[in-house]
Amino acid sequence: MRILEAVADLVIQAGQAITLSRDQRKARRKEKDAGTTEDPKLYLEEAALERQLPELDLRMMVDLPPGLDYNEWLASHTLALFNHINLVYGTISEFCTMTGCPDMTGPGLRTYLWFDEKGKKTRVAAPQYIDYVMTFTQRTVSDETIFPTKYANEFPSSFESIVRKILRLLYHVVAHIYHCHFREVALLGLHAHLNCVFAHLTLLNQRFNLIDPKETEILGDLEAALLEETLALRIIRPTKIPRYYVQQILREADRK
Ligand SMILES: [Zn+2]
Repeated sequence: MRILEAVADLVIQAGQAITLSRDQRKARRKEKDAGTTEDPKLYLEEAALERQLPELDLRMMVDLPPGLDYNEWLASHTLALFNHINLVYGTISEFCTMTGCPDMTGPGLRTYLWFDEKGKKTRVAAPQYIDYVMTFTQRTVSDETIFPTKYANEFPSSFESIVRKILRLLYHVVAHIYHCHFREVALLGLHAHLNCVFAHLTLLNQRFNLIDPKETEILGDLEAALLEETLALRIIRPTKIPRYYVQQILREADRK
């Protein structure tokens, strides 16, 4: 019952979002100038910019440790991101329906089309698109010839380009969650986790240039706002931030 009350409180808070962050004001002005009719971005509200891990820790987490194989490193981060994004989407998937989300949309009025195996573009509903992404990724990361786990098995020469494709598709899922389902994520209290996963994906990309900037520009405002926010967090309480996210990723890497 208490949880329900807390959720109700959050609904009220989210609905009343009192102040707009500087970035959001800027973003809105830009939208107005461009004459678009896009909905306000709830995820840029100051209260929603909470993150559970400072930027510095995440930056260190994506840096390739000396002596470690680059492909091995990419593999462990890709698996961690896939698991976390799948988990967050799983919690709100009941709200992502064929009728509610008939297109796979992201911020900036972007619509993603699915390329089938013959390379033909098809318009599909968001839940269908995301199901394709998750099925493709699951199949790929479980393929011993692509993501080898056994001793003496090697990564294929195309490994990096496969990782690039997976990360691009996962980015689309994250963009859709922010664009269409951020309210539900916040109501479940998972926004800090989503922001952390987004920061992880962004910093990994910044470190190794894995995703085309044309793909990532649609969440550039969030990127800027989160970085600004984490600078403040770092100064105020650098050691009190839970480390569960890093610990979980390290555990996943160990298990590999
Ligand atoms: Zn949806």
